[in-house]
Amino acid sequence: MYDIAIIGGGPAGISAAINASVLNKNFIWYAAAPSRKVQRAELIKNYPGLPEISGKQLEWALSNHAASMGIEVCRKLVTGIYPDERHFTLIAGSDCAEAKTVILCPGVQAADPIAGEENFLGRGVSYCATCDGSLYRGKKIAVVCTDGAFEGEINYLLGLAKEGIIVPLYKNCGISAPNARIVVKRPCEIAGDSRVRQLKFRDGAEDVDGVFILRGSVAPTTLLHGLETKNGHIVVDRACACNIAGVFAAGDCTGRPYQYAKAVGEGNVALHSAAEYLDKLA
Ligand SMILES: Cc1cc2nc3c(=O)[nH]c(=O)nc-3n(C[C@H](O)[C@H](O)[C@H](O)COP(=O)(O)OP(=O)(O)OC[C@H]3O[C@@H](n4cnc5c(N)ncnc54)[C@H](O)[C@@H]3O)c2cc1C
Repeated sequence: MYDIAIIGGGPAGISAAINASVLNKNFIWYAAAPSRKVQRAELIKNYPGLPEISGKQLEWALSNHAASMGIEVCRKLVTGIYPDERHFTLIAGSDCAEAKTVILCPGVQAADPIAGEENFLGRGVSYCATCDGSLYRGKKIAVVCTDGAFEGEINYLLGLAKEGIIVPLYKNCGISAPNARIVVKRPCEIAGDSRVRQLKFRDGAEDVDGVFILRGSVAPTTLLHGLETKNGHIVVDRACACNIAGVFAAGDCTGRPYQYAKAVGEGNVALHSAAEYLDKLA
């Protein structure tokens, strides 16, 4: 029986694991794989103290930090979490573990990826306007957006780009910037060579330097039934506590902004909240 089970190998999960080790907790840490989102960042400019670091360098620094403390990661995908009266049972492949608390840091899952999206992630495909927008200053971009709530981010991108092809996958798009062209079609493929070159539709294509995909999608309820979500994100309070007692969540899965500093901070908060919860159980 572990005190804490941490799920996720991105900045949020690593932060939770490092702090669990510092607090000398008995924990198990599952991460199906190192975070592809960290590895694929071309250049990170907004992580305090580490200006101009690449994603690969940040991934190395984070993983090395955990490894240098002797923290072991279990490279398995957790497929189900089942609450009992006083603990949780986690299923990962043929493995099964029990823990008194769970910290969810699985990131955001792309619900309905466009063909080529995964392949060009970090090579012209981005999910974050504030992270990558400045890489497209004076260039031509496409923005595929699933929700009008992201129009502020679209306007931010249009303020940087020379031209923007805006593909709203929702009704009543309110974008009206002079350098924006609204295309009401469903994109079917992102194509290119070593980088993105085109966003394709069934009846044609737009030549672009990059494609921003702004969507909020995660299916954490398949992991843990009864977990409260809103707009695809896990609902948490300021202590990163979820609606199920003993369950905490951190990082992209709790909502925007999708950023390293937020993920690391929430991983820390979630771990300390889990530790306080354990103290009350004792
Ligand atoms: C190309 C690119 C560039 C970016 N640039 C920036 C930037 O410049 N600045 C910035 O602040 N942010 C940037 N971001 C955003 C940043 O990468 C994310 O905000 C951050 O990685 C979120 O961390 P996380 O720990 O919440 O999730 P993730 O990094 O997505 O990690 C999720 C982890 O959970 C694991 N996992 C998921 N489900 C399970 C499961 N069921 N069982 C076990 N393990 C599981 C995954 O394998 C992975 O290890 C960028 C993202 C991308 C894609």
